[in-house]
Amino acid sequence: MPRRFICPHCHSPVDPDAMDSAAGPSAHYRICPVCDEAVLIALAPQPAVEASAPSGVAALIPEPTP
Ligand SMILES: [Zn+2]
Repeated sequence: MPRRFICPHCHSPVDPDAMDSAAGPSAHYRICPVCDEAVLIALAPQPAVEASAPSGVAALIPEPTP
C-alpha cells in the first residue's frame, strides 16, 4: 500500500513519491501536485508543525538603514 499523507493546504491525499522535492535550509519539502504548495515533510509521525509562524517574514521587511 503506497504511503499517502494529507496535504495541509488542499487536504488531498497525495503520494510523496509523486511529488517534486525541494530542500529548504533546515528541512525538506515536497511540492503538492494538486495545489502546487510546498509541504513540509516530517520524518516523525507527529502532527505537522506547519509554518504558520513564518520565521522568514522578517526578510521581507528590511530595516531602514540610517
Ligand atoms: Zn495540496
